[in-house]
Amino acid sequence: MTMPRDVIRADVLSLTSYPVPNSVGFIKLDAMENPYTLPWPLQEQLGERLARVALNRYPLPRPSLLLDKLKYTMQVPDDCDILLGNGSDELINLIATACAKSGAKILAPVPSFVMYSISAVLAHVEFIGVPLNVDFTLDVAAMLEAITAYQPSVIYLSYPNNPTGTLFDDADIEQIVRTANRSLVVIDEAYQLFAQRTWMSRTNEFDNVVVMRTVSKLGLAGIRLGYLVGLPDWIREFDKVRPPYNINVLTQSTVDFMLDHLNVLEAQAAKSRAERERLAEAISLLSGAHVFPSSANFLLVRVSDADMVFEALLSAWILIKNMSKMHPLLGECVRITIGTPDENARLLTVLKSIQL
Ligand code: PMP
Repeated sequence: MTMPRDVIRADVLSLTSYPVPNSVGFIKLDAMENPYTLPWPLQEQLGERLARVALNRYPLPRPSLLLDKLKYTMQVPDDCDILLGNGSDELINLIATACAKSGAKILAPVPSFVMYSISAVLAHVEFIGVPLNVDFTLDVAAMLEAITAYQPSVIYLSYPNNPTGTLFDDADIEQIVRTANRSLVVIDEAYQLFAQRTWMSRTNEFDNVVVMRTVSKLGLAGIRLGYLVGLPDWIREFDKVRPPYNINVLTQSTVDFMLDHLNVLEAQAAKSRAERERLAEAISLLSGAHVFPSSANFLLVRVSDADMVFEALLSAWILIKNMSKMHPLLGECVRITIGTPDENARLLTVLKSIQL
């Protein structure tokens, strides 16, 4: 009899699946989603649009009209190309696959987005994590030293950084980009709308920089679309490892529609930015809580007992993310996604009722 352990790679056998908790019935403040749905007239118009999509046909592998529209709307430099991914998660995997030469390394500051290291492990590429400073700014000296020592193929910079919310300094990034002249630097702008800062217009200034974005945090996490912007020489290579029909027809049609209504999502993001400031101030007034500065749609908060805070919120049907075991720098930290004003008020009521 054949058992999985006879067939599956030893490192895969020892992995655990990416944990996604059951959130039915909870106020969901764990995954950096936009808490607002589409307003009704748009839901109806989108429904009518999607009803006409040819579900019997494979999607266009490189939908040129949609790519042009995305390029125009997102102010992609003229001489750059776009690669679409089934979420930026898929793009991160494609990059690891394409760069997995023997002895290749992928480097990122830690703590940062976990998929950078997961994708490296799955592609048999060594992951080098360079600890951030204790205030979660980049340790530039350590980064430059690691770049010289390891000569990584790829460097990820989450801008702003998940899970800390930090917006790394542009001059620090530029120094890394210039030093890492034999690496590809991927600037991951998943939270761009909340930081309102971007490297997009500089993508063509360097031959080793690409910018990655996603529509997930904009309010479209369910349709799974990420995009990578870079000079054609890079995009052409990553395109070769992309599954041919990776972006389904419903996603393509939804994005096409939503690009005409981006102002609605941008207004929702503006509400989240205002709520972020309000919530950060309210939590920081609670004794025992330290709120780190955030340029994203979540707050990283240090408390005296993260497990207790997580459990107390869970029993009040509020789901946040306990980060305290993820990295030593995140001791007793929880990450709270900004919700609607009502959701944030309920969160605050529970936080006020416990000893932080
Ligand atoms: N990059 C960062 C920094 C993230 O935090 C996330 C999601 N948590 C992603 C990329 C992945 O986004 P998606 O796959 O939904 O596009």
